[in-house]
Amino acid sequence: MSLIVQKFGGSSVADAERVFNVARIVTDTYKKGNKVVVVVSAQGDTTDDLIEKANEINPDASKREKDMLLAAGEQISIALLAMAIEKLGYPVVSLLGWQAGFQTSSAYTSARIKRVRTDRIAKELDKNNIVVVAGFQGLNRYEDVTTLGRGGSDTSAVAIAAAMHADLCQIYTDVEGVYTADPRKVENAKMLKCISYDEMLELATLGAQVLNNRSVEMAKKYNIELEVLSSFTHKPGTIVKEASKMEKMVISGVAKDVDVARVSVLGVPDEPGLAFKMFSRLAAKKINIDIILQSIGRDGTKDISFTVAKNNAKEASEIMEEYISNVGGKSVSVDEKVAKVSIVGAGMESHAGVATKMFEALYDAHINIRMISTSEIKVSVLIDEDKADAAVKAIHSKFFDED
Ligand code: ADP
Ligand code: ASP
Ligand code: MG
Repeated sequence: MSLIVQKFGGSSVADAERVFNVARIVTDTYKKGNKVVVVVSAQGDTTDDLIEKANEINPDASKREKDMLLAAGEQISIALLAMAIEKLGYPVVSLLGWQAGFQTSSAYTSARIKRVRTDRIAKELDKNNIVVVAGFQGLNRYEDVTTLGRGGSDTSAVAIAAAMHADLCQIYTDVEGVYTADPRKVENAKMLKCISYDEMLELATLGAQVLNNRSVEMAKKYNIELEVLSSFTHKPGTIVKEASKMEKMVISGVAKDVDVARVSVLGVPDEPGLAFKMFSRLAAKKINIDIILQSIGRDGTKDISFTVAKNNAKEASEIMEEYISNVGGKSVSVDEKVAKVSIVGAGMESHAGVATKMFEALYDAHINIRMISTSEIKVSVLIDEDKADAAVKAIHSKFFDED
């Protein structure tokens, strides 16, 4: 007998027919003699709709109240799925995040899972129940409901798998696995049989929304193998696992992130400690900086540009305005119409010319590169947002259509 965690995303439970489809997948697994814990997200676009509702009432509502609202989406799904499983004649119980023992940090709307107290889930499994758990939510130390950030129910599933030492953690979604690029945007994207935690973590962080990056981080930490697969076709999906168990690919995928803004600070004094002083002000406000570009100093001044998430752009530019008003500087500008396009691959370290090939693809497509950043397993470029899809296609075709 195995313990299997199965997670179903919003589109997999979008309507009654799909809820029954999920109920059948779950009960088929249970019928084979397995213990099954199911994690579900809110139906279809429910979370987006709830955010819209909140904005109609009060766009500046406190994060605590936003979480109280957003967590409601998953409550609907668990009850409906449990009802469908009951109708198929199987024993089932639905649990909210707090009932399932999810304890989180206090950061409303982006809480981190601190611990899952699994006694209740274990008790229900002992009673031979199928356990259906609301993803994306938990309880903080003030006993308030929290949510884990968008896409967070992947992390809920991995956290249960880790805490309960599950034998398998399956992430069911609306595509057949992890592809070399978003299969909805790039026709020739190829499904990967397997991918390492590190590459998947980079792809997820760089915009491939198929898995939430924290879920991959946690899977790596606790060595939980994940299978990403479709709830609509009965086919094996992509396995996410340790790199040592697989062959290194030069490039495993191309990702796009449009949640980026560039802040440029021009004409600041060219002196030691400048970067430290500028960026420590942003760090103090917990603003994450991504790509940084600094010009060569000329006439005692230089320019520094950096990227932040779009929702941090306004605050970052205000902090920089204040900074230059104190130490001197010409101007601060923000450009929100940019996107980051990246290639990821564990094998690029040992292959020369990978970045060049990416730049050539962009050159051929007449796309201008505005910033570049690299690590051992990725190359990212900042380009104009309206060129992002064309850039992904051009880069993907260069790496995957030519061999
Ligand atoms: P769920 O609701 O099941 O959590 P998501 O919408 O969060 O599903 O993630 C699945 C989507 O991720 C797919 O529909 C696909 O468009 C997108 N996606 C982006 N990049 C990739 C990729 N490299 N491989 C697979 N899917 C991707
Ligand atoms: N329902 C949440 C969201 O839309 C969580 C998830 O889908 O994983 O972000
Ligand atoms: Mg998701």
